[in-house]
Amino acid sequence: RILVVGSMNMDIVTGVEHHPVPGETIQGNETRFFIGGKGANQAVAASRSGASAAMAGGLGADSFGIDIRRALAEDGINLDYVADQPGMTGLALITVDGAGENNIILSSGANGRYGADEIDQLNLSGFDVILLQNEISAAVNERVLDKAAENHIPVFMNPAPIDGFDRSQLGKATFLILNEVEAEVLSGIRIEGSSQALEAGKKLLKEGIPHLIITLGSKGSIYMDQSGSQIAFPAFKVDAVDTTAAGDTFIGAFAAKYAAGAELRDCLRYATAASALAVSQPGAQSSIPREDEVQSFLAE
Ligand code: ADP
Repeated sequence: RILVVGSMNMDIVTGVEHHPVPGETIQGNETRFFIGGKGANQAVAASRSGASAAMAGGLGADSFGIDIRRALAEDGINLDYVADQPGMTGLALITVDGAGENNIILSSGANGRYGADEIDQLNLSGFDVILLQNEISAAVNERVLDKAAENHIPVFMNPAPIDGFDRSQLGKATFLILNEVEAEVLSGIRIEGSSQALEAGKKLLKEGIPHLIITLGSKGSIYMDQSGSQIAFPAFKVDAVDTTAAGDTFIGAFAAKYAAGAELRDCLRYATAASALAVSQPGAQSSIPREDEVQSFLAE
């Protein structure tokens, strides 16, 4: 069983010819609604990869909260730990112009109001893995890390977005999963390929993190740990059309296989295949593949 403690958002996406300047009113094209938030994406990825996944976090008292609840339940995610909060659900207002350039306004809503005291109510026994990101308050993540340590449950920490991440939490995670940008910010090393990623990884392992994964987009990923073992896993060659949620798919898929007791190398192979499939489809959650699709891709 996997528990994701994190964000859930409604993403409202409108196509525009050009982004409005201050004071300007423009016509938008079709507006579409997508369920997102890194927490929800990772829970969906884990569930579609066959894990029994539960989500903890906050939803607001608006219709978006109802929509998100319904969609995540349809994805087989247990929502017993989702707290209903007064006020709005987390919201991302996104405009995309003709050149594909986007502007995003993020309102954290219930994600920001979800508090550390909610964690005290959670019964963590029976969970094999807990996933955290950085779209809810640092105090909540801190409480989860402490409570997970008491219960001897490994925590996969994905400090994304890295902005505002509380660095003191680094050493408390069992697995730290970073993309290039996050690894650069945390290590201070500019990453252009796997050799700098290894250098950054070595530096970060000195802070006491047991296991580390750095994902490198089309260059794949590297795994490193305190015992000195290193695995560089190349990406699968696919036609990438939309890399949104690549990292979330990788993490959720990896955690699903890890919780099922798979070997590390098999977890990496599976997660790499799942994220390759995700980038070869447009969309975020809609592009997260199911286990049978990943297995048939791997069998090709
Ligand atoms: P994030 O989405 O967090 O920035 P990355 O871009 O590093 O994360 O992607 C995560 C994983 O998704 C990579 O390790 C890789 O396995 C896969 N991936 C990303 N981009 C591509 C691509 N262009 N082709 C194939 N696989 C990709």
